[in-house]
Amino acid sequence: MEARIALLPGDGIGPEVLQEARRVLEAAASRFGHSFTFELHPVGGNAIDDYGDPLPPPTLEACRTADAVLLGAVGGPQWDDPEAKIRPEMGLLALRKELGLYANLRPIKSYEALVHGSPLKKEIVSGVDILFFRELTGGIYFGEQYTSSDGSLARSVMEYSSKEVRRIVRLAAAAARERRGKLTSVDKANVLEVSRLWRRVAAEVVTEEFSDLEYEVVLVDAMAMHLVTRPTDFDVVVSGNMFGDILTDEGSVLPGSMGLLASASLGDKGPGLYEPIHGTAPDIAGRGIANPLAAILSAAMAMRHSLALEKEAEAVENAVNTVLDAGIRTIDIAAGSTHVGTVDMGSAVIESLINQR
Ligand code: NAD
Repeated sequence: MEARIALLPGDGIGPEVLQEARRVLEAAASRFGHSFTFELHPVGGNAIDDYGDPLPPPTLEACRTADAVLLGAVGGPQWDDPEAKIRPEMGLLALRKELGLYANLRPIKSYEALVHGSPLKKEIVSGVDILFFRELTGGIYFGEQYTSSDGSLARSVMEYSSKEVRRIVRLAAAAARERRGKLTSVDKANVLEVSRLWRRVAAEVVTEEFSDLEYEVVLVDAMAMHLVTRPTDFDVVVSGNMFGDILTDEGSVLPGSMGLLASASLGDKGPGLYEPIHGTAPDIAGRGIANPLAAILSAAMAMRHSLALEKEAEAVENAVNTVLDAGIRTIDIAAGSTHVGTVDMGSAVIESLINQR
């Protein structure tokens, strides 16, 4: 197949890790007989410096017409003034909004070769394989925000429509069907009216369209606990924006390094946006030591969700597994032992991908 992929390297280690993701995509294309073309576009802090805009219109236009968008990370100390009117992350938020990306997918997977690097006990974290679906464009982050004129009272409104709940639960349930067949919906229905709507609509979707799934509802406070005491019990988890924000960050510590965690943001049509969950790591930027695996795994997600190349996505994920099993480590997962740089890690994945049977 032919596909056009927009590459938005961003700032800090973004360009370093995205370059490796690109090389892996090129290797996958060559191995499986596809033709991918890549276009580089500015976003974030460097786009503010060069164009006065964290999402210049040509970048947005290129993303709209691409088959998938792969982003590094944005931000850095030079743009970190909280009072600034234009900030790097505004580019990312605008991009998600403009592309209508309402579903944020975050796989949380432990790697056997790295379980000792997790802050949790090996027995708890071994075998973890969760796919989170976080609603991304609704809920309390997008509801009415109010502060009284004397500053003594504030209000943030959490609102969901049944349409918003229905579409994200449907996506999550469809993913569960392709995986181990279990769906967990997280809410706070014992207290919040909005969660009661969430729970009712989620149950309707499952009953009407996905009755083959094992389905459960869990309160968000209990889920925070279960995630670190019995994470292997979960397959696909779906929740609203704020609960998902907190739970996915909690879950991200399970595998042991931010450098391993990929994400996808999807809408109903148009390209998905794929990015590592880590930031620009200013402390190590420019040194060639960043872990590119999160970016490479994000590229695999792009092949799976935007290009319908499941076999190719799995091949990249298997290559990452093989490399980790072989003991090849970047500094963040080396636990003090020898480690390779960003480019060598990318090359190791490519070699494993090419030599896979
Ligand atoms: P960070 O994720 O950039 O770094 C946290 C720690 O993890 C650092 O010690 C860093 O060296 C390490 N780390 C992160 N990614 C790594 C990788 N691939 N390989 C090896 N080590 C890695 O978070 P931060 O320090 O809080 O933020 C730095 C900047 O990134 C800030 O300007 C922040 O706004 C921005 N940020 C951007 C995004 C995004 O673009 N999606 C997300 C988070 C933070």
